[in-house]
Amino acid sequence: MSQIKQEWKQKALEATYRYYDLGLSTSRDSGDVSVRDPETGLIYIDPRPNANFKIVPNWRSITIDDIVVIDIDGNILEGGATGDKKPTIEVPMHLAIYRARPETGCIVHSHALYTGVFAATGEDIPAALLETVLNAGGEIRCAEYGPVSSQLLGDNIVKALGKDRNAALLRQHGAVYIGKDIDTAFMCAEYTERSAHVALLARAAGMKLIPMPTTKEELFDPSIFDELDVI
Ligand SMILES: [Zn+2]
Repeated sequence: MSQIKQEWKQKALEATYRYYDLGLSTSRDSGDVSVRDPETGLIYIDPRPNANFKIVPNWRSITIDDIVVIDIDGNILEGGATGDKKPTIEVPMHLAIYRARPETGCIVHSHALYTGVFAATGEDIPAALLETVLNAGGEIRCAEYGPVSSQLLGDNIVKALGKDRNAALLRQHGAVYIGKDIDTAFMCAEYTERSAHVALLARAAGMKLIPMPTTKEELFDPSIFDELDVI
C-alpha cells in the first residue's frame, strides 16, 4: 500500500503559497519548500521547472498535482500527477538537512530582502532581538558559498546550522529555515527576516546593537521554563 498521502501534498502546497505570500520568494521558482511526514519519513517537495512546465509568474501558479514525493535517499516516489516532475534543484540541500537534523519536519529556503543583504556581504546576522534567540537559536551564521544544486551547498548549510540553529544564510544566495513542523519553520523565517531588518536599521541610524544574553537563565524567569516550547 502506498504511503503517499494526499493530505501531505496539500500541506506542502499550502506551505509553498504561504512562502510566496510572505515575500520569501522573489519571483518565478526562486527558493523552495519541503515538508516531511514524521509517520512515513516521506518528503513532499516543490517541483523544478522543465521544458513543458514553467513556474510562472511565481509559486502561486503550481497545484497539488505538481508536488513531488521523495524518500530520504532522493528516490522519486511520485513525480507529480503526470509522473514526469523532478524535485527542486536544491534537493541535495533539503536531503542533507533532513539527514543531519532528524527532528526537522519542514524546510523553507528563501530569497528575501533583508536576509539577502547579509547573504550578499557574507556576514552573520546578529542576535538583535530576543525572538532571534527563541526561534533561530542565536545569531544566524552565513555558510561558505556552494554552487546551486550541489552537495557542497548542502554540506556547508548543515555546518552553518550545526546542532543548535534553525536558520542559516546561503552566501550570496538566500537563507534557509527549519522547524519541527510547518508553523515553527515559518515563525523562524519571519522573525529572522525581521531581525535582519532591525539590525540593518540600527546600523543605518548609526546605533549600536548590544550583546544579547544567550542562556535560558538570563533570558527567562525560571518560573516559566516549563512553558517554553521553542528554546
Ligand atoms: Zn535558492
